[in-house]
Amino acid sequence: MTDPVIGVLALQGDVREHLIALAAADAVARPVRRPEELAEVDGLVIPGGESTTISKLAVLFGVMEPLRARVRAGMPVYGTCAGMIMLADKILDPRSGQETIGGIDMIVRRNAFGRQNESFEAEVDVRGVPGHPVEGVFIRAPWVESVGAEVEVLAEHDGHIVAVRQGTALATSFHPELTGDHRVHSLFVDMVRANRTAESL
Ligand code: GLN
Repeated sequence: MTDPVIGVLALQGDVREHLIALAAADAVARPVRRPEELAEVDGLVIPGGESTTISKLAVLFGVMEPLRARVRAGMPVYGTCAGMIMLADKILDPRSGQETIGGIDMIVRRNAFGRQNESFEAEVDVRGVPGHPVEGVFIRAPWVESVGAEVEVLAEHDGHIVAVRQGTALATSFHPELTGDHRVHSLFVDMVRANRTAESL
């Protein structure tokens, strides 16, 4: 099969870094802003940035409802940091007007690590990522406060959940796109390939 086409939601945040990481992980990567562009991808990354801004721009660009519909229909999605917040069914302390796409049955606390520490790096052992631990870059990062029964916890840091998967949805509190290590992106590209195969059967 040809390489899967994976979009990066390009409203705000570190879009370019994800495009580079996806291309390095053998996907055809392209920015997505409009519903027509969303319709053409096999999977989508929601980058790090500022979740309130991403939320407001998604509504403004008319892409919020199409995003929800595709995630509900099982399109593979991967959210990093602000992207993780966007995939949470529920967030603690949302800013006013902040909506999420949802898709993962979890409660996420925004800026959870940020209060003690603006930004830090730590080794994180991520289930499903072979080899040595991943270098986790945490930038005003959220953590997952609690998860529903369908959610698989892939990693924890300091007793807090920082990576999860529910079906075709993946989320990390940290930013693998900033490290040059593409193993988490490869895991996601594999999820997209598996989903394409399942859909074509
Ligand atoms: N704290 C940010 C938010 O609430 C997320 C930070 C990030 O993506 N690096 O959206």
